[in-house]
Amino acid sequence: MSPRFIRPTIPLRSRRYDVGVKCDFCSDVPVATHYEVPGFRVDLDDPGVIAYSEGPWAACAECAALIDKGDRRGLAERAARRLGPLYGIPKGPALQQVRRFHDHFWERKMP
Ligand SMILES: [Zn+2]
Repeated sequence: MSPRFIRPTIPLRSRRYDVGVKCDFCSDVPVATHYEVPGFRVDLDDPGVIAYSEGPWAACAECAALIDKGDRRGLAERAARRLGPLYGIPKGPALQQVRRFHDHFWERKMP
């Protein structure tokens, strides 16, 4: 059985994200807005994990401000700073994973 993850920022085997409840970038609440993004799949180093995104991405006010400024680096660093400790992932790998998803987001984000 392949695990599935909805709109992951950091994919975890046992966790599903609450759609639209938390920020899809940093897991903060409340959600301030959504960004339309066509679905995509992300290939990870671990072949046992399938990560994909479907539907709009929710964003808290702080992440939305970074997105609206086009601040890719700031958004990735904020997400990694918050999600890394949350899931026990060191800063370097967390930033790497976050960027992998964010790159798809930035490429596909609707204006
Ligand atoms: Zn956020």
